[in-house]
Amino acid sequence: MGRIYNFSAGPAMLPEEVLKEAADEMLDYRGSGMSVMEMSHRSKVYEGIIQEAEKDLRELMNIPDNYKVLFLQGGASQQFAAVPMNLMKNKVADYIITGQWAKKAYQEAGKYGKANAIASSADKTFSYIPDCSELPISEDADYVYICENNTIYGTKFKTLPNTKGKILVADISSCFLSEPVDVTKYGLLFGGVQKNIGPAGVVITIIREDLLTEEPLEGTPTMLNYKIQSDANSLYNTPPAYGIYICGKVFKWIKRMGGLEAMKDRNEKKAKILYDFLDESKLFKGTVVKEDRSLMNVPFVTGNEELDAKFVKEAKAAGLENLKGHRTVGGMRASIYNAMPMEGVEALVEFMKKFENENI
Ligand SMILES: *Cc1c(COP(=O)(O)O)cnc(C)c1O
Repeated sequence: MGRIYNFSAGPAMLPEEVLKEAADEMLDYRGSGMSVMEMSHRSKVYEGIIQEAEKDLRELMNIPDNYKVLFLQGGASQQFAAVPMNLMKNKVADYIITGQWAKKAYQEAGKYGKANAIASSADKTFSYIPDCSELPISEDADYVYICENNTIYGTKFKTLPNTKGKILVADISSCFLSEPVDVTKYGLLFGGVQKNIGPAGVVITIIREDLLTEEPLEGTPTMLNYKIQSDANSLYNTPPAYGIYICGKVFKWIKRMGGLEAMKDRNEKKAKILYDFLDESKLFKGTVVKEDRSLMNVPFVTGNEELDAKFVKEAKAAGLENLKGHRTVGGMRASIYNAMPMEGVEALVEFMKKFENENI
């Protein structure tokens, strides 16, 4: 059996080219006589790998020199704690609750200080992004926090919130490198890489230099101290070395594809195929208000749970996998990250049309 179209929300598809390259280098990385997995993270060869990965990421995202790039462990969820521990000087932060991941981050921050939920879309099952042009930002807030693309609910911030001068912190796990981004608008961005960039186990944090502090909250573990990680160039301890190597290959792949403008163009085309179909379908319907639709995660339902289950089962048999919606939402969700080819989305829509004809 060959490769299938994997619509998983994460870990998700990686570009086939990248997997093949990694396979070719598995036993002997470019004449080193060993796999990257077996290599000292202090070796010259590995130093080259991590430095080049950082350089390529900086180029792709146009990251200014006054921002540090950290390759860390513990997934995005670990950052839910690391962010308040390092940034909550006044022990106050404002959170915009647009889904489960934002809520989890908010709850975690509540362990370290006063976390305020200043806006939420919970009233309509997180199917939209609240108006964030005039929020009750706390006077002494250390930062304002958003989850920029809501993986589970399929919404995306198209306009960043007006933080009234406060630092913006964003979880970009599921929209990382999907389109150009103006890094200067944020104090800190982070994302687990298993959605759009590489294997689980790596989280990338991009932080403005002046936010690195010698004195995070008391009791902050050394490993969660951004200043220490930054001073050590992400090599304080053994990093997730193989994962970072794969991320580096994906950065190169995106560069070859034409960078983030080209990614955006491609992602918009892919998403349009699916959304256009959903808008005219008599059986399926999207669950998100149009203006806030994500390019990456597309939830949809038939309105009948049994039919949803039948769809997921038959789609799987047709080589279209992991279309079941998140356990908290039900229905279906197609995650169509950077590595999902156009043909994958076309195959999905063809299958949906066929299913519609057979079941209506
Ligand atoms: C998947 C995801 C997370 C959790 O990532 P882990 O690496 O499993 O901790 C957090 N935020 C968003 C937006 C996600 O999509």
